[in-house]
Amino acid sequence: MTRTAPVPGTAEFPLLADLAATRPVTWWNPGLRPTAVAMPGVGLGIADVDDAADRLRRFAPLLAQVFPDTRGSGGIVESPLRAAPALQRVLGERAGTPFPGELWVKLDSHLPVSGSIKARGGLYEVLKLAEELAVQAGLLTLDDDYRRLLEAPVRDLFARRTIVVGSTGNLGLSIGIAGAALGFRVTVHMSADARRWKKDRLREHGVTVVEHDQDYSAAVAAGRAAVAQDPSAHFVDDENSTDLFLGYAVAARRLAGQLQALDVRVDVEHPLVVHLPCGVGGGPGGIAFGLKTIFADAVHCVFAEPTHSPCMLLGVGTGRHDGISVQDLGIDNVTVADGLAVGRASGFVGRRMGALLSAFCTVSDEELLRTVALLHETEGLGVEPSAVAGIPGALRLLTATASEERAGLGDDRLRAATHVAWLTGGSMVPAEELAAYVDAGRALL
Ligand SMILES: *Cc1c(COP(=O)(O)O)cnc(C)c1O
Repeated sequence: MTRTAPVPGTAEFPLLADLAATRPVTWWNPGLRPTAVAMPGVGLGIADVDDAADRLRRFAPLLAQVFPDTRGSGGIVESPLRAAPALQRVLGERAGTPFPGELWVKLDSHLPVSGSIKARGGLYEVLKLAEELAVQAGLLTLDDDYRRLLEAPVRDLFARRTIVVGSTGNLGLSIGIAGAALGFRVTVHMSADARRWKKDRLREHGVTVVEHDQDYSAAVAAGRAAVAQDPSAHFVDDENSTDLFLGYAVAARRLAGQLQALDVRVDVEHPLVVHLPCGVGGGPGGIAFGLKTIFADAVHCVFAEPTHSPCMLLGVGTGRHDGISVQDLGIDNVTVADGLAVGRASGFVGRRMGALLSAFCTVSDEELLRTVALLHETEGLGVEPSAVAGIPGALRLLTATASEERAGLGDDRLRAATHVAWLTGGSMVPAEELAAYVDAGRALL
């Protein structure tokens, strides 16, 4: 990893000393701007999210046929939203102060196809590529039944194309499963953090897995370099892809529909606070963008990162974005939250979304494991450590900071707030591995 700029001093960003010491931090973003002011800086709008949602609808009949776990929803890949009152009560008891408002969990941990948030962006990018190639070849029009993509002429076309991606595990799993189902060749460059079972699962699908002994950024660089040699290959650029970003953004309008169906009120006086685990930033960034297009200043997006991988907080806080890495601070980027083990954030997301994010929290591995155990005991949910990163910060952010610092979230509004902790992965984790996470967390309670 090359050091791209001198390490800034604490004068530039007061939290640097705490970050370098891997102490958990909570940070209300002083760079937050009103949605109407910051939105043009994203360079994307509602029409782009509409386009992505329309594309997912066109593909729904095909997805229902290829992925049996999407049949019950007609091929729409979506997860439940669930109240978590028992977890909320226990978190308050443990903190010695009630958790204000209402806590809900969004179960992307149980999304069909690949059991993580990557079944949104990753799947979407594969579908968009498939559509483009088939239309270009004259084998598909936008009002066709997309199940014809499963027939011989199109499959032959896809079989000659390779999709390449670098990943800590879940993106590779999603791209690999989706790509293989449509008949593409897929190569996944896996970082050292990637779990064995994810690589095994991909190989069962006929995917080529290249194992790297370095972190996520190196795996992505290897993928990018491989594609530069092969003009027939498509690189899924997790650090910069607009398609991934928009695939994630569609989640926001689905959440809006769920909140409405559950009669949850959202306005500036009754804010929605959404806690999003952040790795490179595409997933949480895309969802935050989608939420801002719908709820504007009535939604507060909070990014959660491991204390050993606080890349987005570092990038946004210093204003250096992808020009600085956690390794530049002497942090190792090693965490039990393998899905969040990213040392250098997406500059694409940090630059476009920095002024729309209300706050950041970092969470220690011990706290992540404890939270996995608490979630299991209170709500009966089994998820991977990355998935719970948004939960511990939620209460800490609200109780440990004075109300005037909280981006307009005074005490009255907090009591009226709806919190959604986005649980980002876990249903495909082998049972014995989930049990080991729960046991490790219980031992720390
Ligand atoms: C990928 C991932 C995230 C975060 O998404 P990024 O786009 O990397 O920020 C969060 N949780 C899990 C389980 C993931 O796999």
